[in-house]
Amino acid sequence: MNARHKRSLFALILIWTMGVLPAASIAQQTRTQGQTQITAPKNKYKTSDDIKIGNRAAGEAEQMYPVIDDAMVENYISSLGDRLVAAIPAEFQHPEFDYRFKVVNASDLNAFALPGGPMYVDRGMIQAAHNEGELAGVMAHELSHVALRHATAQATKQGSIGNQLGMLGMILGGAVVGGQAGAQIGQMGAQAWMTKYSREYESQADLLGSHMMAAAGYDPHDLANVFQMLARQGGSNGPQWLSTHPDPGNRYNKINAEADTLNISSNPIKMTRDFERVKGRLAGMPRALSMQQLEQVYERGGRVYGGNGGGNNGGGNGRSGGQTSNDPMAGGRYSRSVEFPSQRMREYSNTGLSMQIPNNWRQLASSDDQVTFAPEGAYGDQGITRGVMLGVTSSNSQDGSQATQSYIDSLLQSNSYLQQRGNISRTMISGRAGNVVQLSGRSDVTGETEIVTVYTTLLSNGVMVYLATVVPQSESSQYQTTFRSVLNSLRLNG
Ligand SMILES: [Zn+2]
Repeated sequence: MNARHKRSLFALILIWTMGVLPAASIAQQTRTQGQTQITAPKNKYKTSDDIKIGNRAAGEAEQMYPVIDDAMVENYISSLGDRLVAAIPAEFQHPEFDYRFKVVNASDLNAFALPGGPMYVDRGMIQAAHNEGELAGVMAHELSHVALRHATAQATKQGSIGNQLGMLGMILGGAVVGGQAGAQIGQMGAQAWMTKYSREYESQADLLGSHMMAAAGYDPHDLANVFQMLARQGGSNGPQWLSTHPDPGNRYNKINAEADTLNISSNPIKMTRDFERVKGRLAGMPRALSMQQLEQVYERGGRVYGGNGGGNNGGGNGRSGGQTSNDPMAGGRYSRSVEFPSQRMREYSNTGLSMQIPNNWRQLASSDDQVTFAPEGAYGDQGITRGVMLGVTSSNSQDGSQATQSYIDSLLQSNSYLQQRGNISRTMISGRAGNVVQLSGRSDVTGETEIVTVYTTLLSNGVMVYLATVVPQSESSQYQTTFRSVLNSLRLNG
């Protein structure tokens, strides 16, 4: 049994969880003399939500993009980042955020920061910056989006699933430039990636970025300069960049005007020795791929096993050349005699959900939208012969049984030996209204009739959670109790 699905995101569950657990909004004001006052936009989420989403997305990003592992480069970007973080005005500091900085070995003029603190600067961006001030400018702008919590603020304003998908798109695709590359992370629908920071947020990030630059000893005019440089050098990426981080209007002049109100060091940091050394170091490394090329490598890797692009998270595969040999699913050998499920259970938990699974089952090929568990001898390049798959899929339908049917149709398409047995019927899943349907057919792997039972429940944001159990008919009685325990243990909440 294989699962055919596009990669969507487990994080969708988190978004749903967040929707039902709004936290108090925090609006804060700055008190300054000449400079523009900034007020963080209304936000109903907790800062812990920012952190959760950001960590999740960071894991995703690091699966796809290689991080440069070089002490000189790492130390440099971290100390530059720390310097800017220390310059965030007190009212926008979130001590619970974990600001951290990595350089991605990609040629793009790009950088992106995720909620709660993780930031990635592309090697190409460092190489294109004329001095440390320009690099600091890009990072200060990105840090401002994080400190002002623009991602969850945007979600606060929005309600529908479409917009929530868009919010994820914005978070992951919220690159300062080259939004196109960021926009492909996670291979979500194009529409999901259209969301951009509003002009209002862009303007805020420009202002706060310039304040931070000045406070950290840089010249905020370099922030204006770097945006101008990016718009010029972006080439075909230029318009893309403008579409994800739109110019709030007259950006260059506005930043320069704001800079004139600020207390800037008489000898601001421009060119530094460390900056030059790091540039030299990067120039000496083999040529980097673009983010888009890296994503293609990653996706190719994902198609090697499962045959259907299913499950693609096997420990950073695709990072270097798309090898998937370390994926446990592909390495599996089918066996005629498979150990029955252990009575002892262990917990599996992911963003917004948890479940008990037998101790002797392995966790296989987890992707951002599905995780599979199976015993030794029951998995391999054609999927599983025994075990369970838990996943999420987004649905256009408000109707649980319709959503289930379209999911089943996609399963049948990728598992042509299976047929649907009977109609979809109602059941309860994790205390919620759900549906159940059975499929069966003769498996080529076991040569026996395989029974697949699919349980689903539709969340209010249009995300459908499914749990599929798989077993040969001849062994189904030995698995019945286990499957029941697994299903009953499923919890859908934060
Ligand atoms: Zn921006």
